[in-house]
Amino acid sequence: MEVNQQKLETDQMEKAYDILNKYFGFDSFRPLQAEIIEHALAGKDSLVLMPTGGGKSLCFQIPALVMEGTCIVLSPLISLMQDQVEGLRGNGVKAAFLNSSQDQYEQQGIERELQAGEIDILYVSPEKLTSSFFLSFLETLKINLIAIDEAHCISSWGHDFRPEYTQLSFLKERFAGVPIMALTATADRITREDILAQLQIEAANQFVSSFDRPNLSLKVLPGKDRLNVILRFIEERPGQSGIIYCLSRKGTEDLAKKLNKNGIDAAFYHAGMSSRDRAQIQQDFIYDRTGIICATIAFGMGIDKSNVRFVMHYNLPKNLESYYQEIGRAGRDGLASDTVLFFTYADVIKLQSFVDQAGQKDLQNEKLKRMIQYAESAHCRRKVLLGYFGDDLQEDCGNCDVCDDPPERFDGTIIAQKALSCIARVKERAGMNMIVDVLRGSAKKDLIQRGYDKIRTYGAGANISAYHWSRYMLQLLNLGLFEIAYDDHNVVKLTEQSEAVLFKGKKIELVRPLSLSERSQKKTFTRKKSKTQLVQEALFEALKTLRAEIAAEQKMVPDLIFTDATLLEMSNKRPVTLRNLRETEGVSEYKLEQFGERFTKLIFDFLQEKAQAGEKVKGSTYFQTYELLQQGKELEAIAHERGLGVATIYGHIAHLYLEGFNVDLKEYITTPELFAVKRAVDKHGQSSNTKQHFEFLEGKIGYGKIKIGMLILKNAK
Ligand code: ADP
Ligand code: ZN
Repeated sequence: MEVNQQKLETDQMEKAYDILNKYFGFDSFRPLQAEIIEHALAGKDSLVLMPTGGGKSLCFQIPALVMEGTCIVLSPLISLMQDQVEGLRGNGVKAAFLNSSQDQYEQQGIERELQAGEIDILYVSPEKLTSSFFLSFLETLKINLIAIDEAHCISSWGHDFRPEYTQLSFLKERFAGVPIMALTATADRITREDILAQLQIEAANQFVSSFDRPNLSLKVLPGKDRLNVILRFIEERPGQSGIIYCLSRKGTEDLAKKLNKNGIDAAFYHAGMSSRDRAQIQQDFIYDRTGIICATIAFGMGIDKSNVRFVMHYNLPKNLESYYQEIGRAGRDGLASDTVLFFTYADVIKLQSFVDQAGQKDLQNEKLKRMIQYAESAHCRRKVLLGYFGDDLQEDCGNCDVCDDPPERFDGTIIAQKALSCIARVKERAGMNMIVDVLRGSAKKDLIQRGYDKIRTYGAGANISAYHWSRYMLQLLNLGLFEIAYDDHNVVKLTEQSEAVLFKGKKIELVRPLSLSERSQKKTFTRKKSKTQLVQEALFEALKTLRAEIAAEQKMVPDLIFTDATLLEMSNKRPVTLRNLRETEGVSEYKLEQFGERFTKLIFDFLQEKAQAGEKVKGSTYFQTYELLQQGKELEAIAHERGLGVATIYGHIAHLYLEGFNVDLKEYITTPELFAVKRAVDKHGQSSNTKQHFEFLEGKIGYGKIKIGMLILKNAK
């Protein structure tokens, strides 16, 4: 009995791998996916916590296809539901959705298909799932799994609570024996427990994957001169999709206009626009028709676009939760993507005033503080960020600006003393900028009027630039050496800790900031590209253009044809035959059939063009040989013309043959030679190497010919 059970489980996992390859075009599972799938196949409940882009969908889609019956997926966002179903259908999976966007007839049509067992995965909205009529209908079907996507919506502790989600406790009772899988990207421990309790699956296994998104670079830059930094950044990334988050509606409009003025295709998006306009902008972004969106935080929910290559924050977000969620929209395809946060003191003041007006003031205040600490961090940013979410990173990440350019620390006690003493001498009645002006000995009118030019510390820090002073002040603020009275005209006040510095000689360590120009010029964004990279990028761009053409013809989201990750692999490996294309990650059987020819043809033409131009790029050397063969040239002549050995040309012929080119191997070997190779192969076996055959034949037949002979013999079998 137990043995049979085990055999069943192994068989099922084998089936899971077949499905992964056939329908999704992938060869291996990502961390945790296999375990989660195995768990569901064994009929057990689970809670899956994975970051955005971690690959949650496959966790339920695969068991849904392995097991008999239909999988029900509860999903709160209609737009996402449609995208997911389209994506599945694009891979030949029988999927459908039911929600309020459809009329009665459409819904009935799908219900008929369900009854006939023609749907493997059904997405439903919470309203639909909780209607008693529909539930009774579901009970007549064979349900193999219930997946609850965005499960944090269940909990009022979560940040995106939806009341319809709270009525799901009946699922476990009504569908006894059907495994439930709850999935989310954001849930702390309390929320997780709440999810399990409400679904009545307390015993469910929790699969928690790391929150790290190593493909996202993290960078914080001073906010001064943002526009120019952004312009240069975009200039270096032609054709890439990106989101720039701004604090205010007007901010999004202004920035988009400025970008437009500089010839950049950007649009703005905020909640003050009509829903029609907003939908249009989203669509244009998803279809790669608009490259860059300047948006408030209203943008992003419900956008399933895997190739967002950068997310910038023009202004400081109000907490790390929002920040992490927003940057998380970059690089869902797992390819390297950039995030940039611009940090200014002006934003701190603005956000502080929002906090003061909002509820839960202390909590929000604390969160804002942690956000500022992150932006000012002199330690690996990813460590700080993940640490905040309780996910400890052992090593520095190597993909943030602090790791790239570790800050230089020095004894800043005197600087701290000067600043604090200045605060004391203006009797804690001045704001941060004024303190800097006094320290620098500025002759500004209001400074003189207030008599600050008479105090002892006036001009005491004139040797330090205003920019450096403002950076030091922020560090001192973060160290808790003074506070800002947000409720009292933002004046700077001393704290208990200031005393230790002022009177007890406490040492303070500061970090030397790079000047603005150093920061934004030095190692900002550019990496010099090699010729190989440029060629590969050119092919990648050409593949993207083809994808856009197909998307427009078939009115399909480009992502659903092939993702950027897939196109990138194509541009590296350059498959020109369908068989080789199928080996590319993300090329499923169904997609190969639909689009394969057009992509291999493009790669073929690209390589041919390079070969004709005499350019040596990866893959083009074979083409050059092929071209010359087509012209009817002899091998020796080709070798001579190309400055290569004859054996190499034989190698090319073997390669071309394997790539599926039209070459007749028999032309390159005589019958007696072929027999000789056969004797060698018979003696040592097919799998032995060419060297053995070469030696067996006493060097009478060259390596190239042996290879060709072996190929012919192999195929004759
Ligand atoms: P999530 O729902 O967790 O945000 P998705 O399920 O949308 O993530 O997956 C994100 C991306 O990762 C998709 O482009 C998906 O095709 C890809 N992906 C998922 N699993 C694998 C895998 N095993 N191998 C390669 N790519 C994968
Ligand atoms: Zn780092």
